[in-house]
Amino acid sequence: MGQGEFDIIARYFMRKAQRSEVLLSVGDDAAVVAPPAGKRLVVAMDTIVAGVHFPHGTAPEDIGYRVLAVNLSDMAAMGAEPAWMTLSLSAPMADEAWFAGFARGLFELADRHRVDLIGGDTVKGPLVATVQIAGWVESDRWLTRSGAQPGDLLFVSGVPGEAAAGLAVVQQALPLTPAAQHLRRRFLRPEPRVALGRAVRSIASSAMDVSDGLLTDLDKLCAASGCGARVDIDALPLSQPALDIFPYEACVDYALAGGDDYEMIFTVAPARLADLAGALPDGVPCTQIGVLTGNSVECLRAGQPFIPGRRGYDHFAQREPPP
Ligand code: ADP
Ligand code: MG
Repeated sequence: MGQGEFDIIARYFMRKAQRSEVLLSVGDDAAVVAPPAGKRLVVAMDTIVAGVHFPHGTAPEDIGYRVLAVNLSDMAAMGAEPAWMTLSLSAPMADEAWFAGFARGLFELADRHRVDLIGGDTVKGPLVATVQIAGWVESDRWLTRSGAQPGDLLFVSGVPGEAAAGLAVVQQALPLTPAAQHLRRRFLRPEPRVALGRAVRSIASSAMDVSDGLLTDLDKLCAASGCGARVDIDALPLSQPALDIFPYEACVDYALAGGDDYEMIFTVAPARLADLAGALPDGVPCTQIGVLTGNSVECLRAGQPFIPGRRGYDHFAQREPPP
């Protein structure tokens, strides 16, 4: 580590820890954390790459926000309470304004969720940011992808497809009408569903966050659970701002296959529906969009089988170029 790097770390990433369980934070060779009694540690990591996960030229504030948001979304999907993170940052140059902006976006979201940055690594290279996040769950209460059973009801939070529509707004440089601004913000500033994950952690039979597309992620949940699902296209909540700008069929495609929403899909046994109604946090709409079945994930539209044009984004399938 050079002096310049240390200055950047000290100036932008070294802050007093907020959590009492963090005993030693940024500045030593490693951090030290005291696990709370009776809790289990939940760990996840997500990397975002310029030109793949966000367009080149994205504001540093939005990149800092995003790298934490995608990780918080994994904590949400597990029903965990996020607690601390480490950050590996590769950036092309020691541009002070860029680091300041990145740190602003990162800590804006970190403070909202009381997450401490306790260490990391800073190198010069192509623009890539990785966060490893850790959180706590009660010793027997975490969510998984694998607990769904045929007959369970399938829910999605929020309005899937808005982030993909927002990416189209950015890529096509569409005029920033209020609808376009709303969608752009939904792409740049996804709202991880941490409160929802906590609320349903002992009610849902399975859960997963939607990062690559609703159908492709539902495929993964169903594979993990060893069952199938029937999705009712007519029950999908479609985005009014997206409908204001894009054709109806494009909006259905965004909702079914668009990535980057960081909404949650989860399943609930019919007997737990009343518990769910009482547990949902304010301001987090959840919609039943289907039911779990014995095998394969199918879509129905007006009661007829419907084959969507695509199911989502796969980094290694190369079916579509990265944005
Ligand atoms: P070392 O040489 O021992 O690997 P570094 O010089 O890489 O340590 O880092 C010095 C301190 O700064 C360590 O505590 C490390 O965790 C922290 N750190 C480095 N980069 C970051 C970053 N981007 N965010 C948070 N902490 C960081
Ligand atoms: Mg060291």
